[in-house]
Amino acid sequence: MADIGMAAFSVFFMQSPSFLAHQRHLQDGAGHGRSNCQTLLEMTGIPCDNHIRAMLDPVAPQHFFPVFDAALATMEECGGLAAFRQLGGHLLIALDGTEYFRSDEVHCAHCSRRTRAGGKTEYFHSFLSATVVAPGHNRVLSLPPEFVAPHDGSEKQDCESRAARRWLAAHGPRYAGFDPVYLGDDLFSRQPICAAVRAVDGHFIFVCKPSSHPLIQQYITGIELAAHRQTVKRGKQRFSYTYRWIEAVPLRDSDDAMMVNWLELEIANAKGEVTYRNSFVTDLPVNADNVAALAAAGRARWKIENESFNVLKTKGYNLEHNFGHGQHNLAAVLVTLNLIAFLFHTVAESAEGLWRQAVAIAGTRGRFFSKLREITALVLFPSWQVLFETLTFKISLTLPP
Ligand SMILES: [Zn+2]
Repeated sequence: MADIGMAAFSVFFMQSPSFLAHQRHLQDGAGHGRSNCQTLLEMTGIPCDNHIRAMLDPVAPQHFFPVFDAALATMEECGGLAAFRQLGGHLLIALDGTEYFRSDEVHCAHCSRRTRAGGKTEYFHSFLSATVVAPGHNRVLSLPPEFVAPHDGSEKQDCESRAARRWLAAHGPRYAGFDPVYLGDDLFSRQPICAAVRAVDGHFIFVCKPSSHPLIQQYITGIELAAHRQTVKRGKQRFSYTYRWIEAVPLRDSDDAMMVNWLELEIANAKGEVTYRNSFVTDLPVNADNVAALAAAGRARWKIENESFNVLKTKGYNLEHNFGHGQHNLAAVLVTLNLIAFLFHTVAESAEGLWRQAVAIAGTRGRFFSKLREITALVLFPSWQVLFETLTFKISLTLPP
């Protein structure tokens, strides 16, 4: 099983759908009977794709979850988490749902389904992603996913809300030591999720749309709100940032309503045209000193889409690969291994100087992975150290004349 798990992981970690095929060539063709699967990944053999598919399909993805925490611990040990600390020491954890599989034909017992226009059934899988983000830089850290099951309800809001509460119950207590602030879109700014966050000693900054929170709108209408203005230069343009806030408004219209603090950011250009407006609810105190940082943290939520989902889907992580979909857990196991590979890459960039140098020499992450892919297809490396010393020209591969 260790070989099988590592074989599937290696495809995502090396960002090479044909990594295992290349290693088979290296093992058989070069005559030494070994490949980088043995030397770098400590595998004993190279299982075939069919075998990997059959053996991983029944595996519960939760078996891999401890690896996320090990990576996070490495990140903390190397000092890499410091760049993520916000608002005086909090970690920002963005929650958001995403689909990772969609098909008209291929499906399994765990597929969610919906009827498209014309009566056609579409099958899909989605999960609730939890990702550590921070305003000011583009790195993100994936935490264990929570898979959305078909019985979660038919509404997107219902599915994500239940998955978020399951995630918080399963993982929230473990991350409480990071003093997390959970971020999310308007689906999350409802009392059941806000209460679930508080129950695991977390804080929240959730988007709060006027249309979904009419009572808060009533509270803020017609009163003088506290306000703070800043002028911000972006290139040659000047923008005026206006923050408004009020503390202690009820989250919903009920006797047991949670009291929350509300804040809004409005950005106007030099002509006075409003180019951005968003409002949030939070359990953290709001004042003139921290309102800008709170709004920046709330806005960092979009990074989960740009820096996580977009990278996973379009930047070489080969989400479905040729292992396929399976009948039980294969799709969920593959997405979990993929998230771990993505996390390891970020940790390696923070913790490993040679890795960072190799990426810098390659110029872009894309070119770095293409070098890694090509060189490991052709050369048997005794260790990661030698591989990365080669990629950074500390040693060179020379052949006898
Ligand atoms: Zn399925």
